[in-house]
Amino acid sequence: MSAVSKNEQSGFTVAIDGPAAAGKGTISRAVAAHFGFAHLDTGLLYRAVGAMGGDPVAAARRLSPEDLARPDLRSAEAGQAASKVAVIPEVRAALVDFQRSFARRMGGAVLDGRDIGTVICPEADVKLFVTASPEVRAARRLKELRDSGFATDFATVLADVRARDARDAGRATAPMVMAEGAVLLDTSAMAIDEAVAAAIAAVAARR
Ligand code: C5P
Repeated sequence: MSAVSKNEQSGFTVAIDGPAAAGKGTISRAVAAHFGFAHLDTGLLYRAVGAMGGDPVAAARRLSPEDLARPDLRSAEAGQAASKVAVIPEVRAALVDFQRSFARRMGGAVLDGRDIGTVICPEADVKLFVTASPEVRAARRLKELRDSGFATDFATVLADVRARDARDAGRATAPMVMAEGAVLLDTSAMAIDEAVAAAIAAVAARR
């Protein structure tokens, strides 16, 4: 997949990493909207590869923007499937160019994921690591899933959050870890608008 042509590249890059359900998505969308930057939820790439079935490496190599529009990518099952294909180095390698090209687009870009500040854009202008306790994240994810019509319970979601944390932080290639120079944002005790304001302030301070 190619995001933009070479002569369009050059912008300001914001890298936002952290575990599942810490608030990265909401914060990333708000930061992008505030500064007029484009936004890429890189988790969707892994979710789409996991959902395509078959050989994940082949799926990652032929991934197209239309694959990211599938309606079933937000489910807990798609998240687990994503974190399983995300441990495969060849899958990650196949998705690097698209992400880097997106990151450099003119006009600025916000990318959120697990390895944006460490592997995809170590030279990002601003890096944030957004986290929260597993219990707080599970409670938020439970609400999101129920609001989208998925039937589940707190214990199941907490187990899912912990399993994904362990897989994402423990893998050999591009593990989830706070990047050097990243600003830590622990949203456990924050309302979402406070977390968004803190993220916007961190970006504004570096522009
Ligand atoms: O962020 P989201 O929950 O949509 O990500 C789904 C899964 O995709 C994560 O649990 C992780 O295993 C993988 N992922 C990754 N690197 C990224 C983004 C997501 O490994 N940059």
